[in-house]
Amino acid sequence: RHAEAGRELRRHFPGDLSEPVPNLVAGEWSPDSDGTFETIDPATGAPLMAVSIAGVAQIEAATAAAVDAASVWWQMDGQDRSRLLRAAADAIRSHGAVLGLADTLDVGRPIKDTATRDVERAARLFEFWAGTTDRLRGAAVPVQPGFTNVVVREPFGVVGAITPWNYPLTNAAAKLAPALATGNAVVLKPAEESPLSALLLGRILHTAGLPAGLVSVLNGPGETTGSALVEHPNIEKITFTGSTSVGRLIGGRCGTLLKSVSLELGGKSPFLVFPDSDLVAAADAATFTAFLNAGQTCTAGTRLLLHASVADEFLEMMRERISRLRIGDPLDESTDVGPLVSERQLQTVRAYVESATSEGAQRLSPLVSLPAMGWFHEPVVFGNVSPMMKVVREEIFGPVLSVLTFRDEEEALAMANDTEYGLAASVWTGDGARAARLSSALQAGLVWVNCVHQLHPGSPYGGHKTSGVGVEMGDEAVAQLMKVKSVWTAVQTWQS
Ligand code: NAD
Repeated sequence: RHAEAGRELRRHFPGDLSEPVPNLVAGEWSPDSDGTFETIDPATGAPLMAVSIAGVAQIEAATAAAVDAASVWWQMDGQDRSRLLRAAADAIRSHGAVLGLADTLDVGRPIKDTATRDVERAARLFEFWAGTTDRLRGAAVPVQPGFTNVVVREPFGVVGAITPWNYPLTNAAAKLAPALATGNAVVLKPAEESPLSALLLGRILHTAGLPAGLVSVLNGPGETTGSALVEHPNIEKITFTGSTSVGRLIGGRCGTLLKSVSLELGGKSPFLVFPDSDLVAAADAATFTAFLNAGQTCTAGTRLLLHASVADEFLEMMRERISRLRIGDPLDESTDVGPLVSERQLQTVRAYVESATSEGAQRLSPLVSLPAMGWFHEPVVFGNVSPMMKVVREEIFGPVLSVLTFRDEEEALAMANDTEYGLAASVWTGDGARAARLSSALQAGLVWVNCVHQLHPGSPYGGHKTSGVGVEMGDEAVAQLMKVKSVWTAVQTWQS
């Protein structure tokens, strides 16, 4: 079944089925390559496709074309840019089945999530940002008499975008839509584990009518292809989503090059449950956030902080919910949890589970059966953990949840903030004043009160502490994707 689905997917790329998938340079398939790598179907462990690594000539061609396209794009009427980005949203929806299939085969995310949720989210990202292109206003500053001062915003020109593998399509769309809407061209490098949907998306945008050269998608290892984008003089802005360790490297390099950079990095987000909350809804949400995408979600609530008085009842509710999760073939419409992305990721998760067990953590989750093939890991809930254990402190990026209990709000807050990360936090309480106090005191870029994983392209998204620098989405993202220019005009003869 997977082999047949893989052959069906391969037909959407040019060339013979035995040839490597090409890069997308300036909107066109570019068969040259500097070697290939294999992308693997994690549900079977079998090779899915060979993918071309972008060569130096392709990187040069993509960035040069992007410089030209950015200039054409910015000179267009904003309403025309808007129309084209809306056309892109429609094209994403009409290609939804293949985009969904690409991510399900490439990373094992269940088809019910990729082909519906992710495709719709990607289309809506383009629709939202299409609505901003003719509203990018500047400002007039009231300065000293004899002068006018106008502040205008201009695009950087070419944005280099580097993305991780966990949500390949929406990660790519979240980089492309705002950067294009603010007048930039984009050269995108997806993760090696998940190159396929970004290539298809780039081609879809091109055929939807975006100027040639505005979008290129180049594949290859981060250390070579990724860093070539960071170093390239034609690329004036880097937007990166990925691990904190690689973010530090890229941020450091951009600092040396004096290149603008935005970083969306890792997390170890707390999920706080108070006794006055709707425990049924909270248990649904705690199970959802911990095991969504097999735990490979940067904003996952991986530290469950329970008030001691409800801990036993809450964990029993979670056990019941976990035993109902359908873990299996991501191509099945009924599957809730698929495999991890790679064998390496499975080994990483297993190592964390072994280290926690050897340190005395107690496994509270029910035993569930897993498919015989593929890189599956069962959902794990650990109790009896101490705040210093690796499983509590480090981002695992797998279906592993640590549970700690607290006695009062002060202790809950201290535990929640006891982390180097600051991406998200979810608070469950029926007390409005408590919700307000915690929202203000939690060290996180996103706070969800009595909800989790709510996102909107109009609302800023980004991490505090080591979870990132800068934000994606909202007006705040516009400020990071455009340069500011302050224009002074004398309205009378100038004198010193
Ligand atoms: P990663 O950091 O290993 O890789 C991310 C991307 O960076 C890949 O495309 C990779 O090829 C590239 N890269 C690696 N080394 C590079 C280098 N030296 N120069 C340039 N590019 C380089 O991350 P991953 O394993 O793909 O993804 C998982 C991580 O992403 C987790 O830490 C997760 O929390 C994070 N993430 C964060 C967000 C967010 O919005 N904050 C969203 C999704 C994932």
